[in-house]
Amino acid sequence: MLELSDIEEWRSFASDQRAKGLVVGFVPTMGALHAGHASLFRAAKEHSDVVVASLFVNPRQFDRRDDLEKYPRTPERDLALALECGVDCVVSPSLTDMWPDYPAPTPTTVSVGELGERFEGAGRPGHFDGVASVVAKLFTITGPCRSFFGEKDFQQLAVIRQIVRDLAFAVEVVGCPIVRDDDGLALSSRNVTLSLAGRRRALGLSHALTAAAKVARPASIQRAVMHEVLENEGVEVAYAEVVDPLTLLPSSDAESGPRRALVAGFVDGVRLLDNGPVSIVGS
Ligand code: AMP
Repeated sequence: MLELSDIEEWRSFASDQRAKGLVVGFVPTMGALHAGHASLFRAAKEHSDVVVASLFVNPRQFDRRDDLEKYPRTPERDLALALECGVDCVVSPSLTDMWPDYPAPTPTTVSVGELGERFEGAGRPGHFDGVASVVAKLFTITGPCRSFFGEKDFQQLAVIRQIVRDLAFAVEVVGCPIVRDDDGLALSSRNVTLSLAGRRRALGLSHALTAAAKVARPASIQRAVMHEVLENEGVEVAYAEVVDPLTLLPSSDAESGPRRALVAGFVDGVRLLDNGPVSIVGS
């Protein structure tokens, strides 16, 4: 497995592969890798010829300094997991190469508008512009590729699809299913920061989604069911919504059909999110 940090070496590695007629599969991550990331590496391996994974904790998508500082970092384990999953090239760019002006704001920003202002964006101003800006730069360096993202971050996936469409990146975006622990908790790099009791309370997120998925009811009832489960299980609710899976606009009680339920909340001060399919029936 090739390990690179230099942007120009990374750019030429990817372009050399394409020159050989190979499809580059690209998986951007912030490290602290777990089985969720491994599933993206395996999907990339299956659906492309050469897999490039990036490890970069992007400060521009954090709105709180303490959250950025507390973000788990496990570079050695990350390399071992990438190797085990058959990743061909791991790129770990430096902060100064990615954001030369840091900690001053970088003047050029990819702004994603309304889609980035709801849900995760409402609680974390600037978060999705930070995500879009870093992913745009990663796409520019990697070049034409097939890029793999988890449905775990459902709104992020929608934002990435929007920037690919609006800015015409030569990138095919592939969404991959959420990987969960045996008890249903969606894997997240942040789970390691939970206490034992917190981890139990965190199950409230997947329980809320399961409860909503069990019955086809109007959207407002599904929302109420999710709020009740989250509150009963000790999750401080940020939001519990039923949305159109493409536009992420909240569903009304007049609508029927397959939708996506999105939940987020705090446990032990840690922000957690999850989502899953639900079916609604108009009242
Ligand atoms: P992160 O390192 O948290 O930025 O995540 C990198 C990629 O891994 C994103 O596309 C995430 O959606 C994806 N990911 C994170 N957790 C999971 C999971 N439990 N299942 C599937 N994909 C995931």
